[in-house]
Amino acid sequence: MWQRKSFVELEKEKEDFNESVSKNSFLKAVKRFIYAFFGVLSFAILKALITGPESDIDMPAPSNPIKINELPEYLDTFLIISVIIAMIVFIVSLLAPKYFIHNYKTTLICSKCFKVKNPDNEVNCDCGGFFENLDLYKWIPDDGLIDLNQNNN
Ligand SMILES: [Zn+2]
Repeated sequence: MWQRKSFVELEKEKEDFNESVSKNSFLKAVKRFIYAFFGVLSFAILKALITGPESDIDMPAPSNPIKINELPEYLDTFLIISVIIAMIVFIVSLLAPKYFIHNYKTTLICSKCFKVKNPDNEVNCDCGGFFENLDLYKWIPDDGLIDLNQNNN
């Protein structure tokens, strides 16, 4: 059955989460720097080869892809852009590590009938209960299931 976690349990979870966020935060920032750098760089190269290096949002130019052998001419610019974006990711990752972590579930559960649903604007359940984030609940096996396991042992 579903049971709402106690205040102590929720506090403990929060502590564990904060601890795991602050652990190795520099290494994680370096990792994100590398991901961002290569991500942006490969995106810029692919974009240049497929639709051309220009990006004009207001007036999309007709595609003007570059040839593979023209790539070195553009590489300087692409490298600079990639380093700048990766640096921003690195700094944000160091200063606000939680920004990159999505620690929430996107499922709601009814406090009374335990019906689950995706988030929408309706917080009240038909049964008279109200929907809360599933993170606030834990699953406890029914007694019957526990008995069954003990009999097997
Ligand atoms: Zn309900």
